[in-house]
Amino acid sequence: MTTPLAKKLRRMIAAAGPISVADYFSACLGDPEFGYYRTRDPFGAAGDFTTAPEISQLFGELIGIFLIEAWKAHGRPAGTRLVEIGPGRGTLMADAQRVIDRLAPELAQSATAHLVETSEKLEAIQRETLAGAQIKCHWHTAVTDVADGFTLLFCNELFDALPIRQFVNTEDGFRERLVTVGDDGALAFCAGAATIDRDTLPGHAVAGDIFEIAPAREAVMAEIAARLRRCDGTALVIDYGHLESGYGDTLQAVRKQEYAGVLDAPGECDLTSHVDFQALGTAAAAEGAKVWPPMNQGGFLLALGLLERAGSLGAGKSPDVQQEIRRSVERLAGTGQGQMGNLFKVLCISGADVAIAPFNSLAGPSGGLS
Ligand code: SAH
Repeated sequence: MTTPLAKKLRRMIAAAGPISVADYFSACLGDPEFGYYRTRDPFGAAGDFTTAPEISQLFGELIGIFLIEAWKAHGRPAGTRLVEIGPGRGTLMADAQRVIDRLAPELAQSATAHLVETSEKLEAIQRETLAGAQIKCHWHTAVTDVADGFTLLFCNELFDALPIRQFVNTEDGFRERLVTVGDDGALAFCAGAATIDRDTLPGHAVAGDIFEIAPAREAVMAEIAARLRRCDGTALVIDYGHLESGYGDTLQAVRKQEYAGVLDAPGECDLTSHVDFQALGTAAAAEGAKVWPPMNQGGFLLALGLLERAGSLGAGKSPDVQQEIRRSVERLAGTGQGQMGNLFKVLCISGADVAIAPFNSLAGPSGGLS
């Protein structure tokens, strides 16, 4: 299918040669005219995919509870900056704030909220969602624009949306995978000239193996870690991905809740890839941050009291509503196919070496509703 962005990319490639997967990725999501996030609201049942905060308010409420615990562990500082990068519709920030306001009014009263968003369209939706917010909200286009101060930062499904580069194992060694125009006039992959230092690659690779690196993700992680070292605080990164670096092509396109070809409809599908949590942890540690071993989302949410909160949310409600809550709990914390409990990981990093529940008590990635 030809899209306006496919036409634009084909013209660019004809004029200047093949582009990297990272440039293709950035164009698909962020092209000022035709980029996916610039032109639409992709979330929810009517959209292309559903994120955890859009599944149930329980998700954002439990993040709120985690943030309160982190704030206490850091000694209850005044003037907390509550920072979210890539807030989508603003649902997670709204749900977390409601809980903070109710359970930790001292935190809510002196805090300010900072939403870092590059899409004007989504910023407008966030402003609507947060019109009645308990904590005053400010918008920024880069996390570096948030003034220094004790920071509690979180992001859900941000890193999967930041571009990756891919290297493919060819007869000539690892070569960067590029996007070109094939003989039939359609976009196609090819191998370019750039290579990658073999010493940085894991174990044994076979022909055709793909290794992904994400300098853009590591730069954001390093920026967050440096901020936490400078201002103190804690950050939570939630996303789908793997705990250890390895080979595999994880680039994926999704439209209307279904997978599509990565090159088929640029600008009209969401394009993402799985997050390499080992690489993120290494980037944060290099800045001197304390990095906990990541937990699975299921184990994390259960440890924060998912089942208890689901029980109180459902108390006195109709059987239909209770059934809906049970389904949400399964989707957020279940470990089966199509459920988030095992696929999604939670990485926690801090500026100072403080013990924050549940990372201090539940080591390792186990857990979830089986
Ligand atoms: N956290 C939300 C949305 C996830 S989708 C949720 O869970 O529902 C990714 C979000 O990140 C979108 O809001 C997108 O516009 C934003 N985004 C993408 N790249 C970004 C960047 N470089 N800086 C800040 N936000 C970005």
